[in-house]
Amino acid sequence: MDLWYTEKQTENVGITCKVKETLHAEKTDFQDLAVLDTLQFGRMLVLDGMVQATLADEFVYHEMITHVPLFTHPRPQDVVVIGGGDGGAIREILHHPSVRSATLVEIDRRVVEVSRRFLPEISGGLADARVTVRYEDGIKHIAGAKGRYDCVMVDSTEPVGPAVGLFSREFYQDIYAALREDGIFVAQTESPFFNQDLIRGTFQSIREVFPIARLYLASVPTYPSGLWSFTVGSRRYDPLKARLPEKLPFATRYYTPAVHRGAFALPAFVEALL
Ligand code: SAM
Repeated sequence: MDLWYTEKQTENVGITCKVKETLHAEKTDFQDLAVLDTLQFGRMLVLDGMVQATLADEFVYHEMITHVPLFTHPRPQDVVVIGGGDGGAIREILHHPSVRSATLVEIDRRVVEVSRRFLPEISGGLADARVTVRYEDGIKHIAGAKGRYDCVMVDSTEPVGPAVGLFSREFYQDIYAALREDGIFVAQTESPFFNQDLIRGTFQSIREVFPIARLYLASVPTYPSGLWSFTVGSRRYDPLKARLPEKLPFATRYYTPAVHRGAFALPAFVEALL
């Protein structure tokens, strides 16, 4: 019997993948959590019926959410990821030699435990000595972390349930305060095709809070529409003027200095949202 997974990405469109095996499924205190083994994309982490990461394309998202801010900041030392329980962002952060601490603040302990068990390729960095994992609400953590970080990354689920507050102006103000005076922040901000109101609203709020606000794009096949946006809020360094290394100190599969610059070149319909 053929088994298929379908995510209804909007009222009218979805993605369907053939499933080899359901490796895990449970209801946590916060969400439905599943790991599927799919034929096209390999192992896939699914929360509340929405794809969070697959082995085939997670490198795009994780390299782009981390290396753009971390190569913009000249010497990031203390970095925090809000959400991101799969560990992919942490894995990439640890490649940066200046980083001395990487904190993961994930509300749902089970996402981390299940990722450690079924997705070691993504979660492997969580065992590193520089990493601290805290199981708490990222909103609360950031509110109590004045001037503590060089970089804040909001690697969140879609704005439903506990993630709603992660897309609010009050949260961006608290992030501003949680950063050192030259700190930089990035958030995943969904699809420019399907989430235009969200992009418009978050960009507006981030621009009101930070002196520098920039949006950039990357192509992630398993996310709705395949085109994904990230928004940077920065207290001092402009990612468009970053002095990027000619040769990266570690291997990447998507991020390059040229991709960094090119990702900020926005199609006209995206520019029009800002
Ligand atoms: N890369 C992914 C994407 O864009 O689909 C996001 C991956 S990561 C698994 C998202 C995590 O954010 C989830 O594990 C969820 O539990 C966590 N999360 C949601 N709201 C949160 C909050 N308020 N504080 C901390 N973590 C939160």
